[in-house]
Amino acid sequence: MTTAPQTYRAVRLAAPGRPLHDAVLEMPAPAPGEIVVRVQAAGICHSDAHYRSGVGSTNHPLTLGHEVAGVVAAVGAGVAMPRVGDRVCLHYLVTCGECGDCRAGREQFCTTGQMIGKDRDGGFAELIRVPARNARPLPEAIPFEHGAIMMCSSATALHALRKARVHPGDTVAVFGIGGLGVSAVQLARALGAAAVYAVDLNPAKLAMAGRLGAVPIDAGPGDPVQAIRDATRGRGVDVALELIGSTRVMEQAVLSLAPLGRAALAGLTQERLSIAPYRDLLGREAEIIGVSDHLITEIGELIQFVERGELELGEAVTQFVPLDAGSINGVLDGLEAFGDGVRRVIRP
Ligand SMILES: [Zn+2]
Ligand SMILES: [Zn+2]
Repeated sequence: MTTAPQTYRAVRLAAPGRPLHDAVLEMPAPAPGEIVVRVQAAGICHSDAHYRSGVGSTNHPLTLGHEVAGVVAAVGAGVAMPRVGDRVCLHYLVTCGECGDCRAGREQFCTTGQMIGKDRDGGFAELIRVPARNARPLPEAIPFEHGAIMMCSSATALHALRKARVHPGDTVAVFGIGGLGVSAVQLARALGAAAVYAVDLNPAKLAMAGRLGAVPIDAGPGDPVQAIRDATRGRGVDVALELIGSTRVMEQAVLSLAPLGRAALAGLTQERLSIAPYRDLLGREAEIIGVSDHLITEIGELIQFVERGELELGEAVTQFVPLDAGSINGVLDGLEAFGDGVRRVIRP
């Protein structure tokens, strides 16, 4: 089943370093194996500010937006699922599905993989076209805006905790209570963490982490590493997540580890990390683990956490904005300045 081409509104990046602009584009009918989704919610992520400034984004002009949920508007030949009218959320990595990495379930390393909203057109638009296998059913009980933000921050938070091998009874420190941190705190608890320490500078974010069951650690007045040591009777934590992209905070995450502790680093930075190998790693048999994106298999798991009430995203979405370049540029400016708000979502 196909539909005739139709025009749609999108907010695009013409070239790196330019503000986003409004555009009207033509959406072709979906090719075999593809679907067209009418976007109901698209999260605005800190990464989008990087892509706008020219760090990471490719193939300009480009429609940004990699956190997308909506309703299937059209399906191409050979697509049995999803069906027109289905509620879906979209895995942001479009991969070949056939190479060794894809077959082994490590699709983030597919050499021909493209990320929506970074390498190919994304969801700051009324319509988006993706392979049908990127869509995952979004249950009626989960609002579109939650489905959207789950596709990036929550999914990467779960992947980071999986990479760090969180076991029931572990103690976990989460450095950075932004979009990822709000999910990481809850998912760590859902995975059985005995205690979760939430480290941030922002009083509102610390208060929110406290409401979500974490022990807030204010990184402002003192040394958060010492505060974590004090809270764990000197032992340190089994798992530390760095979700900010600061080498200083990465060092704090490593220094907070207990013997056999695992520090999973998910924040992006180009700077070099400095550690003292014997004191910080060897002597404690500690590990530093890199975290890149997440897996499509983790999305189904995430939806189950939300359905069971273990991942509550009500506090994660703090503002809705229209599909309008001026509004979205304003949000990206705020993200560059590390504002208070956790997540804004576009409702076209
Ligand atoms: Zn994102
Ligand atoms: Zn592949």
